[in-house]
Amino acid sequence: MSPGLRLDLHVLDDEGRPGLVLGGPPPALAGPGRRTVPNGNGNGNGAARRPAAHPAAIRRPARLGPGEDWDAVVIGAGPAGSAVAAALARRGRLVTIVEPGSPRPPGDGGTLSPACLDAIEETGAGRAVRAAGFVPKTGATFLWGPSERPWSVRYGGADAPPAFHVDRTEFDRLMLRNALSWGAAARQGGRVEEVVLASGRASGVVVRVTGGGTENIAARWVIDASGPAAILARQQGVLRPAANGATAVWGCWTGAGRLLGPGDSDALYVGGPDTCLWCLPTAAAPDRVVVGIVVRDGGGVPVGPELEDWYDDAVARSAVLAKLLAGASRSGLARSAPVGGYAVARAAGPGWLLAGDAAGFVDPVLTPGLQLACQHGVLAARIIDAVLDGADEATALDLYDTVVRRQLDGFGAVAGNFWTAAAARDHGATTLPEVAAEAAGPDRADADRLVFLSILSGLPPSEVVHRLQIHVGSRTAAAALGGRPPMPGEQEGFAFLSRLHHDRRLVEARTSHGSPEAAGSLRLAPGTSVAPRAFVDPGGAGLTSRTVATNRFGDRFALTPQLEAALDTAASRLPYPAFVTAVGATGAPDTEVGPWLQLLADNALVEWDDPDGQVPSTDREVAGCVG
Ligand SMILES: Cc1cc2nc3c(=O)[nH]c(=O)nc-3n(C[C@H](O)[C@H](O)[C@H](O)COP(=O)(O)OP(=O)(O)OC[C@H]3O[C@@H](n4cnc5c(N)ncnc54)[C@H](O)[C@@H]3O)c2cc1C
Repeated sequence: MSPGLRLDLHVLDDEGRPGLVLGGPPPALAGPGRRTVPNGNGNGNGAARRPAAHPAAIRRPARLGPGEDWDAVVIGAGPAGSAVAAALARRGRLVTIVEPGSPRPPGDGGTLSPACLDAIEETGAGRAVRAAGFVPKTGATFLWGPSERPWSVRYGGADAPPAFHVDRTEFDRLMLRNALSWGAAARQGGRVEEVVLASGRASGVVVRVTGGGTENIAARWVIDASGPAAILARQQGVLRPAANGATAVWGCWTGAGRLLGPGDSDALYVGGPDTCLWCLPTAAAPDRVVVGIVVRDGGGVPVGPELEDWYDDAVARSAVLAKLLAGASRSGLARSAPVGGYAVARAAGPGWLLAGDAAGFVDPVLTPGLQLACQHGVLAARIIDAVLDGADEATALDLYDTVVRRQLDGFGAVAGNFWTAAAARDHGATTLPEVAAEAAGPDRADADRLVFLSILSGLPPSEVVHRLQIHVGSRTAAAALGGRPPMPGEQEGFAFLSRLHHDRRLVEARTSHGSPEAAGSLRLAPGTSVAPRAFVDPGGAGLTSRTVATNRFGDRFALTPQLEAALDTAASRLPYPAFVTAVGATGAPDTEVGPWLQLLADNALVEWDDPDGQVPSTDREVAGCVG
């Protein structure tokens, strides 16, 4: 081990690209450093298919030849189903969708995130969505918790990815049209009754055809995108029902006022201890909005005609909404739906994958549903495409299952923090926005962002500022290594947030591990593993594999060869002097080896006894956790 080698730990995103680099100071890197860093363009498995650039380039009749089966059958033509069908058809796969065809009632609004637009791009529908006349979304404005002051989150600057408020009927139709334009087929007027399982492997579906009778559709893969119906999760017994009875009630209004100023087409959220109201502009007319309310414990929400008065009263109780809706009239009846979160124990199995709401539903307070539906759709397509090209199926399914369930968990945790903040009476002597204003300095926009990040992460604003500084430096370094470049807007915010979540657990679990030089013995932290891991290549080059260290929180790190050797040696539980000798350190071990070990310990990968030989408290926490 020679002085001057890098200490970087590359935090990997789900595609195996270094989303963050921890520990390494300089953004400018010498050539050899690059070779140890995955670039996301790893080897494929033979004839990988990249998505075609234009429908005309690959379009072929979506009809089967003699003796041919579908590559995939998709249950449901919602956003998830259309996304997976389009992304498969773009790769030249034979795919058909089955949809009963019950049209979504008009008037439903939906708000998209910039991250959703990225996934939509991969389905080939990006241009159509941008040209559809949906209301551009400038950001979100919150009146949250006890504070009287609204605060806003802006979606970046001119080069930020776009986001939209959409009419759901139009959006869903557009996504389906897009899938068909790429060569997918659709069986409208059919309802899937069950998935055919032969020796535990999905091999097609049984469809009840409108007008009577059933029909079997055989396929090598079945993707369940049936939304809350969750046909396959129920059939497989992997559905975990909602722990609470949250209910959403919503209605459309005409003649509404708008928020004034730059947030004119923001989504507006008004949160209290047990309810969250939202107001979204729609494309139908400038003064037409959808106003909804989520009641966390929906017990008090009536059904039938009483719902109308209940809804009007709930909206009128919010001063800001009463003001926006003064002079507005409601068009149509109020509608309600259960929105308690649910999850699945497994999101993929032999021959099958679950996508969108069929794979789980998190509290709608953060409106992630459409983003997740589109992201699951394109990931499912990549996975199936890779396996059809010869990638190892068990590895690919494991990867899909991990990504999907981790994402749902993350959003669930964020939503939990959101409700906690709404219920908080105060934050010490002052409200959260005031604390954030102090941490941010004179810039009001910064203070608003801080409140948002602080609420979502559950960390105090000063800790957010500290971590933001580290994050910006790390992202710059990651970009220099071929990782994701720093991006303005919500997407960057969410990347940071997901990091904050992990950091939060690290902060909570951190013990004063003191100086390793005085350590009794060095060892891997509980739950650390070092093993090859598969990643799916977004460009369609199949699965890639690289050696990855994973800590007990599920954070994954690419290792430089030196750190890999250090972890390997730590597994032998050596006293510090023996460790230094074993890793072949030369020169001054205190300065050379100490920082490496601190970096690994800070990320819960190694630990050591403190000088009096006491066991770090993490052992006890983890034992409690596992037990
Ligand atoms: C009140 C409310 C407000 C929301 N607001 C937002 C928002 O602003 N932004 C956001 O991102 N998300 C929002 N969501 C969440 C969002 O609507 C869902 O996450 C999204 O629709 C999921 O898409 P999907 O394709 O998985 O499922 P769905 O959109 O439910 O589509 C499922 C499809 O499967 C079909 N199907 C069902 N059973 C069968 C069967 N047996 N055979 C064949 N087909 C079948 C259905 O007809 C449907 O077309 C909201 C949800 C609610 C309840």
